[in-house]
Amino acid sequence: MVEDCLFCKIVHGEIPSEFLYEDEECVVFRDINPHAPVHLLIVPKRHIRSINDLEHGDASLVGRMFLVAKKMAEAENINKSGYKVLFNVEKGGGQVIFHLHLHLIGGWDRK
Ligand code: 5GP
Ligand code: ZN
Repeated sequence: MVEDCLFCKIVHGEIPSEFLYEDEECVVFRDINPHAPVHLLIVPKRHIRSINDLEHGDASLVGRMFLVAKKMAEAENINKSGYKVLFNVEKGGGQVIFHLHLHLIGGWDRK
């Protein structure tokens, strides 16, 4: 847990948030400022700053994040219509919260 990290606070319940999904390694919650009808964040419980800080041993965590994204796309009924999954990396890549998270964005033409 990193003291001044917003997502560490959310993950550890210091800022109350509704988790749509939780397992041993990650949680999912809705983005506070959604860019689409469905905008979820898949967030590892362990603090990792960005993709740049991933190590070899994190391969299964990252794989899990994509499988959770797939599961949440089904749960939100956007899997058939389609969606985007996105990591912003560091300031130039649009990252503003420096705790790794995968965006799941879609639902424009949810059927
Ligand atoms: P980034 O630009 O770092 O990839 O994305 C950070 C995302 O976190 C943004 O889409 C922003 O709207 C979202 N966000 C920022 N603060 C909060 C918060 O307190 N709660 C939630 N649920 N989302 C947040
Ligand atoms: Zn953190």
